[in-house]
Amino acid sequence: MAEDKKLTTGFGRPVGDDQNSQTVGSPGYTLLSDVHLHDKLSHFNRERIPERVVHAKGAGAHGWFEVTHDVTRYTCAKFLEKVGKKTEVFARFSTVGGEKGSADAERDPRGFAVKFYTEEGNYDMTGNNTPVFFIRDAIKFPDFIHTQKRNPATNTKDPDMFWDFLSLTPESVHQVTILFSDRGTPLSFRHLNGYAGHAFKWYTAKGDWWWVKLHFKTEQGIRNFTRDEAAAMISKDPDHATRDLFESIRQGEFPAWKVFIQAMPPADAGKYRFDPFDVTKVLPHGDYPLIPVGRMVLDRNPENYFAEVEQAAFSPGNIVPGMALSPDKMLQARAVFYHDAHLHRLGPNYHLLPVNAPKAAMASYQRDGAMRTDDNSGGGPNYWPNSFGGPAPDPRANEPEVEVSATVGRRPYPKTEDDFVQPGNLYRKVMDDEARAHLVGNIVSHLGGAQERIQYRQAALFHKADKEYGTRIAAGLKLDQKKVERLAAMTQEERVEATK
Ligand code: NDP
Repeated sequence: MAEDKKLTTGFGRPVGDDQNSQTVGSPGYTLLSDVHLHDKLSHFNRERIPERVVHAKGAGAHGWFEVTHDVTRYTCAKFLEKVGKKTEVFARFSTVGGEKGSADAERDPRGFAVKFYTEEGNYDMTGNNTPVFFIRDAIKFPDFIHTQKRNPATNTKDPDMFWDFLSLTPESVHQVTILFSDRGTPLSFRHLNGYAGHAFKWYTAKGDWWWVKLHFKTEQGIRNFTRDEAAAMISKDPDHATRDLFESIRQGEFPAWKVFIQAMPPADAGKYRFDPFDVTKVLPHGDYPLIPVGRMVLDRNPENYFAEVEQAAFSPGNIVPGMALSPDKMLQARAVFYHDAHLHRLGPNYHLLPVNAPKAAMASYQRDGAMRTDDNSGGGPNYWPNSFGGPAPDPRANEPEVEVSATVGRRPYPKTEDDFVQPGNLYRKVMDDEARAHLVGNIVSHLGGAQERIQYRQAALFHKADKEYGTRIAAGLKLDQKKVERLAAMTQEERVEATK
């Protein structure tokens, strides 16, 4: 037996017998002082860490990103500074609402998160396979997620909770339309696009800047399950997408995505026909065409799922010089609360875990904390300013100043009728007859499980997006068409009152 293959305890002591507990007599009473038995069982009791409250079920892989087009007129980010430059990445794909043991083929958005290990620190792209989101203010997020989880009394998924919230939150109708198209049940994690969703500010060393949206387009092509195919896959293999990602990389079939941006000049933002920082809306390609940036390839499987995928932690707040946040209310909160979630789930030193640690040199004045696994910055100074040669801030890493003059308050987004324009365009202009038929069938089969008054309220929202869309949903649910039309003509407050 090779010397390094000897079984030891967690503290390195060789183990003599790993099959029999220490007893008095034969088989006898177990000794409390069997330290190896105690160590083994007590560690086992602590194997689980808190499950992610969203995006719990996922799969990941390592790879690289290469710049294929010059984007230096948009950003001074070092990892994008020249064509041909490569950066290591780690990507994680996930479903959102289900638990860690849920099926990969469930109808749900797919999380699409990429960590770029750049020379100026980690840049995390924390997107989805949909370019928009259900809500645009993070204060609604816990409520929204509760409705996708289990009923507090029955502990089962509940169509009343799901559709009650959505029908009371009309800005969700765009994302609901994408979710209930066949894009809500992708064939695998390889056959979907990724979108950062939010606008970010990209700026150059000269101080020019743009509002930028990031798109990852799959080279494998978009492929989806129909509702029946997804149901069949859930029964056949609940881990099908996890298995597909691992097996395709193992066989040398490396999934790849082309990366693009849309870039809005700052002067456009204030006068655009809707708020470009509203994450329930896309920037139309006709106004802001896709600009090629690079290519991402995933070519290496994790060696250990827990170490590399379960402990991977992404945050939209992790951006690098050359990028800054935008005044998107969802982004503003996500930028800090993802980090907070990881502090809870993994502890204050989660940034030292190998999958999360930057490949760039890290030199901060943070010290101590549970599970500090590096040298804790040795004997160097632990405060700033100091005159003992400690690391110093570099003003070049500052975001250019932003001028703001406004009052503080709690305000909804204005112009809520705009919320129906893009889902309507998607239904009328982007989907073909087959996609529309699948959309209607998928919604009817799910919304049909909710109370009738909720069906009316939601059908009216589809009707507002597109008359035919609403009419077909109402027909599928056998609702009174005239009543749906009347509800669609009301304000949201009147509609809620009429469907109490
Ligand atoms: P375009 O015709 O230029 O773009 C339509 C885009 O829709 C396509 O490029 C494709 O984007 C995407 N698409 C196709 N089928 C579906 C589907 N079933 N569900 C969701 N997206 C689909 O028009 P616009 O840019 O004016 O957008 C029109 C509508 O398309 C939007 O209101 C939005 O609902 C949807 N869309 C727009 C995107 C954008 O960034 N402009 C991105 C994705 C969807 P892709 O190749 O990226 O998948």
